[in-house]
Amino acid sequence: MKESCSPTKQERNPMRAIVIDSESKGLKDGCNKTRTAHAELRNPKISVFNNFPKPSVGPTDILISVRACGVCGSDAAMVSTDDTGAVLYPFMMSSFIVPGHEFAGIVVDMGKNVKKYWPDLYLGDPVTAQCVLNCGFCISCKIGEFDHCANGDEIGFTKNGGMAEFCVVDMRHVWSLQPLVYVNEFLQADIFLAGSLVEPHAGVFKAISESRFQPGDNVLVIGLGPIGLSAINVFRALGAGSIVCCDPSERRRHIARTLGASFVFDPLCLQIYEEAMGATLGSGTKIVFEASGLAERNWTEIRRLLEEGPHGSQLIFFGQSKIDLTVNPQPFIQKYVSFSGSHGHTKVWNRIINLFAARRINPLPMITQTISIDEVPSVLPSMAHDKTQGKITITNFEGVKDATRV
Ligand SMILES: [Zn+2]
Ligand SMILES: [Zn+2]
Repeated sequence: MKESCSPTKQERNPMRAIVIDSESKGLKDGCNKTRTAHAELRNPKISVFNNFPKPSVGPTDILISVRACGVCGSDAAMVSTDDTGAVLYPFMMSSFIVPGHEFAGIVVDMGKNVKKYWPDLYLGDPVTAQCVLNCGFCISCKIGEFDHCANGDEIGFTKNGGMAEFCVVDMRHVWSLQPLVYVNEFLQADIFLAGSLVEPHAGVFKAISESRFQPGDNVLVIGLGPIGLSAINVFRALGAGSIVCCDPSERRRHIARTLGASFVFDPLCLQIYEEAMGATLGSGTKIVFEASGLAERNWTEIRRLLEEGPHGSQLIFFGQSKIDLTVNPQPFIQKYVSFSGSHGHTKVWNRIINLFAARRINPLPMITQTISIDEVPSVLPSMAHDKTQGKITITNFEGVKDATRV
C-alpha cells in the first residue's frame, strides 16, 4: 500500500476494499490523478485490502454502507494493459484507487449540515450516487453542463468508489432509492441490485433523450453487453416501435428477449442491414445505437442502414471505435443523416429511478452473476475476454472469511 494512502496504526475503522495500484510515469504522489490514464499509467495491480481506511465524513458528506456494486467494462479496462504495459483505460483515473461507480447501499452516517438541506433523509435509507462529481464553479457548471465540468472528479476513477464496504459521497451527488421500496420486484435486497443499475441506464437515457428518437421509432441496438441491454430497457420505456438487436452471444440474446426486444439475431451469422430491414418490413430503423465498441467491423452495414433508412436517421456512438471511420457527406446533405455521442449523466438519475419505481423498467434480468469482493481480482481481468455476460455485481463485501488476504 502506498504510504500516502496507508492507514495508520491508530486507524480504528479499517474496511475491506478493492484497490487498483498502477505505476505512474510522471505523477509524483501515488494518489494523484491523470486525465489520460493510457498515457500516464502502467502495470496496474488489483488486490483486496482488509485494512483500508474507512472514509471520514465531512459536513455535507453521506457515508454509504455499500450493498451492491456493478462491475463495468471501464473497470476491466483500468486493470488491463496493451503490449507495452500501458493501462487500456484512456480517461481520468488515479494511480491508486478504489474502483466502483455503479453502487447502492444504506446511509450509515451523515455530516452535520446534511439535515439542513435534506431533512427527510434518514440513517438506514437506501441510496445510490452518481459518479460524475462536478465542482459547481466552472463555466460548464454555471451553464448547467455538469457532465463537462472543467474541475470534475469521478467516483471509482479519481475518488475512491463503491468496491468497498463503505463509500463517502457529498450529498449533492447522492440520490434516494426510497421510491423503489414498495416495488414488488425490488423487495428487500433487490432494491440495491436495482440501485446499482441506475448508472448504466442513466448514461444510456441521456444519449437517447438527446437524440432524434421519438416514440414509435424503430431502433437497432448493436452489442448486448450491459449498455446495449440498458438501451433496450430505455427504448422500451420511452415507447420505441420495433427494437431490433444483435450480439454473437446466445446468453445475451436471451436476456434481450426477456427484456422485451422485438427481434434478436446473431450478427456473425446474419447481415445487420438485411435483418434490420426485414424486421421492420422494409421501413428501416430511425436510430442505430452502437454499443459493441466495434463500429468498424459493422461499418458498411451501418452506413447502408443510415443511407437507406428513414429520413433523418441517426447513429448514436456509445461504444468506442478502435479506428477512424470513413463517411460520405451525401447522406448528411440529402437525408439529414446524423451522428451523435454522449458523455455523463448527471441530470437524469431521478428519471431512471422514477422509471424503475413506475415499473416501466425492471433491470434485474440483466444481472448474470453475483460475486463476493474476494472474487473481483480474478473476475475483473477476465471480463476483457468474456463477452457472454450481462452485468456482474458484487453483493458480498465481507467476502470469504478465510480467504488469503493482502
Ligand atoms: Zn460503468
Ligand atoms: Zn465545474
